[in-house]
Formats: sequence, structure tokens, C-alpha cells
Amino acid sequence: MKNDTSNAVFSLVLPNVRALRAYEAKEIPCRVKLDANESPYMPANADVVADAMRLVELNRYPDPDASALKKILAGMHGLSPDNLLLGNGSDEIISLLITTFGGPVLYPVPTFSMYGIIARGLGAGCVEVPLDARFDLDVARMKEAISASNPKLIFLASPNNPTGNRFLDERILEICEASSGIVVVDEAYQPFAGGDGFIPRLADFPRMIVLRTLSKIGLAALRLGFMAASPEIVGEVNKIRLPFNINSLSQAAAVCALSKFDGINSAIESIAAGRDRMVAEMAGVNGVTVFPSDANFILFRVGDAPGVYARLLERGILVRNLDSSVGGCLRVTVGRPEENSEFIEALKGAVI
Ligand code: PMP
Repeated sequence: MKNDTSNAVFSLVLPNVRALRAYEAKEIPCRVKLDANESPYMPANADVVADAMRLVELNRYPDPDASALKKILAGMHGLSPDNLLLGNGSDEIISLLITTFGGPVLYPVPTFSMYGIIARGLGAGCVEVPLDARFDLDVARMKEAISASNPKLIFLASPNNPTGNRFLDERILEICEASSGIVVVDEAYQPFAGGDGFIPRLADFPRMIVLRTLSKIGLAALRLGFMAASPEIVGEVNKIRLPFNINSLSQAAAVCALSKFDGINSAIESIAAGRDRMVAEMAGVNGVTVFPSDANFILFRVGDAPGVYARLLERGILVRNLDSSVGGCLRVTVGRPEENSEFIEALKGAVI
């Protein structure tokens, strides 16, 4: 009986959804959590943020435009609020973009898995183009794929997840020139790369969108991402955004947390410094190949990735096993200095 019911449900599911597997984000018990590219630091004014929560009128719907928050984000990035659209995490914006523009959706691989998962879920075609040997964009192959498939959307995560590197600016610009569709530069990790990224270039490329998130800079619990683009693009995507997608608690907490950006900036700086130290130390561990990183995480190859992953976990250290997407590789998020040191010590013992 039970099987009959689940078969009946399965056969009702759209074929493109049926073929998917859910994104794995399960909680694995550990002592040192270095698997999800989060910040190890709470905002310095976490107590003030808690006070701000008391002012939220829980009986009222949120501000559908999140005006106060948009004003702050616009000011931080030299934009007008009309250039911004907020999402429940940048994940939601990826979904809104594919819903708005459709496919084919083109992206290099390996990259952030949600582009493919969301595109397939929405029935959009996917075109995947391998990165070159240095994990940078293979412009010749990308251009060939653009001519062959004429993608509506191209996603370029720079710095890229899981490889950690920024793509060369001129390569991103070449892709923008070659495409007649929308190019999304996903800058989830840009704060750790230094510089302003592509937001200042939006004026030169009317079909470019820059994605950002607050998740990596100490506010992952709020689920807040935003896209910066022309008011025309924002207006189109806004047609399918659900009216109250950013809840009042997240709006109030973000407004309050971002008012103390100095604290957030110093956390970003210490994470970037910790990353550089870790890369140098990991390079000295026998049996480990470490890849350069502009992000708050590091990709490294160990050969027996499942074995090393398991041995690190035995010592309470959780990293991300990428063996199925980047053979032999693991990804470690930069934590607090003492967590990083513990990781390095454990890694020495885990690589045999
Ligand atoms: N883009 C990239 C490249 C990411 O790695 C992530 C998070 N893993 C996201 C977007 C989504 O971030 P969020 O939904 O938390 O804003």
C-alpha cells in the first residue's frame, strides 16, 4: 500500500524534478565546522541586533521593498536602490533569474551546484563547459558553446566555488562581449578577494548582473542575498519575486548589523589573512596539493579524499568532500586561527 502511494506520487512529479536529487546540506555532528563557507565570527554588535528584534511588529507583513535595507546596501556599493533586488539568500535570486529569462543556462564546471540544480528543476537546458587546467575560464570553449547554444543566462562565480580562484577580469569581459544574453557574475566571495569586483562595471554592460550575499560575511542565518543590475533588469525580475520574500526579522537584523560595517570588515580581513597562512602551511604537508584561493575556503587534493575526510571527522573536524565533482579533492573553510591550526595538525595525521 505504502509503495503504491509513493509510486503514484512519483509518477505525478514533473519529469525534470523527478530526475533531481535534493541538495545535500545535512547537519553532521562535529567540533570544528569548516564545511559550509560560513564566517566563524558573529557580528561584533550581535547584542544590538537582538535589541532591534524587539522593535519588529510581528503581527504586520514585512516591508515588501525592504527599503531601509536597500538604502544601506545601495550606499555601500555606490548604487541607487533601483539597481537592487533582494533575495532569501542569493540562491533565491538564481531561481528568480532562471524563472525570468529561462534557458539554456551556461556555466563553467566545476562550479556552484545550484545553477544546474535550479535550472533543471525549472526545466531549463544546461550547458556545462569545463574550466581550464588552472580552473580559469576556457574562453575559446566558452565562446564555442555560446555560438552553439545561444544561452539566455551565463553564470560565472568569481571567486569560484569550489575552486576558490577569481577568474581573470579580461576573460569575464570577453564572455560578456561574446554573449547576447544575460551574464551573471556571482560574487558571493568577492569580499575576501579585495577590490570592488564587477559592480563598478555594471554601467558599461547593460546585460550584466552582479550577485552578492551576506551569508559569507557573518550573517548566513538571515538568508539575505542581493543582485545589482540595471533598473530595467531589476524591474523584470521583480515581476515574479514573491511580495514578502525578505522577512521583517532579517531586514531589521541586517540594517542593524550593517550599521557597524567596521567590525564586519575587520573579520573579513582576518579571514583573508588566515586563508593565506593556511595555504602556505598546507603546501608544506606531504601528499597535499593546495590550490590558490581568493575566497574564504581552500580547495586541496589529497588523492584518497573519502579516507582523509573520514579521518578528519574522527578528530571532530568537518570539511567538504568533493570527490564526486573534483576527483581526490576536499574543501576547507577558513575558521578562527585556533581552528585553522587544529585543522593543519589533523591534516598532517590524516594524509597517509
Ligand atoms: N553563490 C555561490 C558561488 C555560493 O557558493 C553560494 C553559497 N554556497 C551561494 C551563491 C548562495 O549563497 P546564499 O544563498 O547563502 O546567499
